[in-house]
Amino acid sequence: ALKCGIVGLPNVGKSTLFNCLSSAKAQAANFPFCTIEPNLGVITVPDERLNKLAEIVHPGQIVPATCEIVDIAGLVKGASKGEGLGNKFLGNIRECDAIIHVIRCFDDDNIIREGGAPIDPEEDKSIIDTELQLKDLETIDAQLKKQEKIANSGDKEAKEALEVLNAYKKALEQGKNARTVAFDDKELQKIAHDLFLLTTKPVLYVANVDESAAKDGNAYSKKVEEMAAAEGAECMTIAAKTEEDIAALDTYEDKKMFLDELGLKESGVDRLIKKAYHLLNLQTFITAGPMEVKAWTFHKGWKAPQCAGVIHTDFEKGFIRAEVIKYEDYIKYGSETAVRDAGKMGVEGKDYVVQDGDIMHFRFNV
Ligand code: GDP
Repeated sequence: ALKCGIVGLPNVGKSTLFNCLSSAKAQAANFPFCTIEPNLGVITVPDERLNKLAEIVHPGQIVPATCEIVDIAGLVKGASKGEGLGNKFLGNIRECDAIIHVIRCFDDDNIIREGGAPIDPEEDKSIIDTELQLKDLETIDAQLKKQEKIANSGDKEAKEALEVLNAYKKALEQGKNARTVAFDDKELQKIAHDLFLLTTKPVLYVANVDESAAKDGNAYSKKVEEMAAAEGAECMTIAAKTEEDIAALDTYEDKKMFLDELGLKESGVDRLIKKAYHLLNLQTFITAGPMEVKAWTFHKGWKAPQCAGVIHTDFEKGFIRAEVIKYEDYIKYGSETAVRDAGKMGVEGKDYVVQDGDIMHFRFNV
């Protein structure tokens, strides 16, 4: 499953954000948020399309996509050198598909800031970045030693590896994240990917603000926006403590009212999950039948057989064709039969690039 790790200095609001994710009422009763370990939970990906389709299909159940969220506490200055916990936490990040980096953007004299006041988003970001970068440098140096030996014997692959390693080393030593380095060459891209560096993982910066700044942000969150933009990274503002209160409300109407008062259209949790999807280039296709209406996650650009393989490897191996209905058509015509009668059902082959929201029916040989 998709896994996002929440990182940040102590007292920036990581647990608060985790709690508001964990108490967000799940879209479908069969997939509530469940806390697997104190710091690990599974959340459903909000998708109104599933509910709209369910009104037409009346399935036995709705099965949304899910995303694992892990609260990675304990990152402090020096974590990369620490033998004990700090290092373990960095290891936890390696297992994540994306990083949610929370930065404190609220004043509160009662809540201690690491290294003392005043609030400083730039410094906070740089402390965490530095720890991740130092860890990456460790990885790089170990690999350099290994590949230099092999390259000496004239090995072409090892020479390519050295090219990648040295480019990363240079950037990291300048205090830049490895994701700022891009390789055009496919071979080099693969080598880069296989290093599983921490600072090449996609990152979403979250500016945690007070309720008063929930809608428009504040000077601190503007700073976070600037820093994210400078890296070409995604960023969002969230009032985690307020959202925690909202998430605890029982009914949809109550939540809506609270959000309206703050001038927000959507809860921070919903925005965050959607952003994370976008960040990872993920899209959703849907299967709709009497048993269930279900969301499936795939990488943007995948073709029909690859998507079939998300459901079952046999679907991919025996792929014949896919019957595709556009979400808008399903809603407009009101049933699969009506869509078919209107000639709006697509019959697609193995080269069809599946689009977000496609309702798919795969035909395959067993
Ligand atoms: P963590 O160490 O990063 O997990 O931080 P926590 O989530 O435990 O938050 C530390 C403290 O800051 C808690 O007492 C929270 O209630 C408080 N807090 C979190 N977000 C906000 C906020 O936006 N405004 C204020 N005033 N306090 C907050």
